[in-house]
Order: sequence, then C-alpha cells, then structure tokens
Amino acid sequence: MINNYFTNAVNIAKDICKRKLDNGDTAVDATMGNGNDTLFLSELVGYSGRVYAFDIQQTALKNTYEKISKNGSLEYVKLINDSHENMDMYINDKVKLVVFNLGYLPKGDHSITTTADTTLLGLKKALDLIEANGVVILVVYCGHEEGSREKNVLEDYIKNLSQITYNVVKLCFANQVNSPPMLIIIEKR
Ligand code: SAH
Repeated sequence: MINNYFTNAVNIAKDICKRKLDNGDTAVDATMGNGNDTLFLSELVGYSGRVYAFDIQQTALKNTYEKISKNGSLEYVKLINDSHENMDMYINDKVKLVVFNLGYLPKGDHSITTTADTTLLGLKKALDLIEANGVVILVVYCGHEEGSREKNVLEDYIKNLSQITYNVVKLCFANQVNSPPMLIIIEKR
C-alpha cells in the first residue's frame, strides 16, 4: 500500500514521470528553473536517452548546468536558452514526456513568469511532439495574477481536445488553503 499519495502536485507529477519514462526515452523540461526536474528526468531516461530543457532566463541555465555537470549527464541533456514555444525548432525525435512547471523561479525574479499566451503555444507544440502513450504534464500555480489567467486559458483549451486522441485530466487539491498548484495531465492515446 502507498501511504499519503495525494500530497501535492509536484510529487504526483514526479510519480507520473517514473511510471512513463524508460531508459532511452526522450523527455522535455519546458521550464528548467533551477534544474530539479531536468536532473530528475535525466536520471529516468539515462545515458541512452535524451532530455531537452528550456528556459528564457540565463540564470536558470547557469544553475542547471552546475547541477547537471556534477552527475555527468551533460552529454545527453541539452540546455536551451529559448522559450518553450519554439521547442519544435530543437527537437526532431519523438518525445515520451513533457513537463511544464509554471510560474516564476521561487528565489528568482518574480516578474519573470510563464504567461498564458506563450504557455498555450508551448503546450500545442508539446502535443504535436509526443508519441502515442506519451504525456504532457503541467503544474499550474494559480495563486498569482498571471497564473490565474494561465489556468483559465489552459482549462478552456484542454476541455476542447478530442477525447479520441487524448485522455485529459485535471487534478486539484480541493480543501487546501492558499491556492495550491494544480495538475493538468494530457496523455496521447
Ligand atoms: N513555480 C515553480 C518553478 C517554476 S520556474 C516552483 O515553485 O518550483 C518557471 C521557469 O519558467 C522560470 O525559470 C522562468 O524563467 C521560466 N520561463 C518563463 N517563461 C518561459 C518560456 N516562455 N519558456 C521557457 N521557460 C520559461
């Protein structure tokens, strides 16, 4: 039995990554931030796999580089200083999993945050790139103004995705205070 599985959005997102990713897969971290997810994904896909990580902030690349270079995975992890809305320009392989951890860097510049428009563009690119049985996971922080707009835009978009092509799930923590992050999971059938 698993104790206390439904603790928070990030832990559930990580568990989905573990279930979906095998050695040799390609995964995308659409919002590198401090590189925690990039590192986690790199451990799951291993040396025969590939991770593409995106961020518009140079600081994110610097912090992630330091984290990744310690475990020697730089050979198969690509750190890209560009917006995730351009991910198709860098990726030619079929992708098993894309994770968006939205919002702003917790200890960084809070004025630099993901935005509804570019997140939606990035999500559309991600959906084009994933293979059958692949997933796109979004951790959505709605407790700030842009985050709340982002949540509305994403919810409007996902409810119109064809159920023939996608399994679409929304998971929110209904009784928690202070607008905890929610999860959107889109699985290609
Ligand atoms: N809220 C998360 C961290 C999110 S970090 C937490 O609490 O852990 C989000 C990252 O997305 C930031 O580093 C930011 O620079 C990056 N970002 C913002 N817009 C982006 C875009 N269009 N493409 C790629 N990364 C982006």
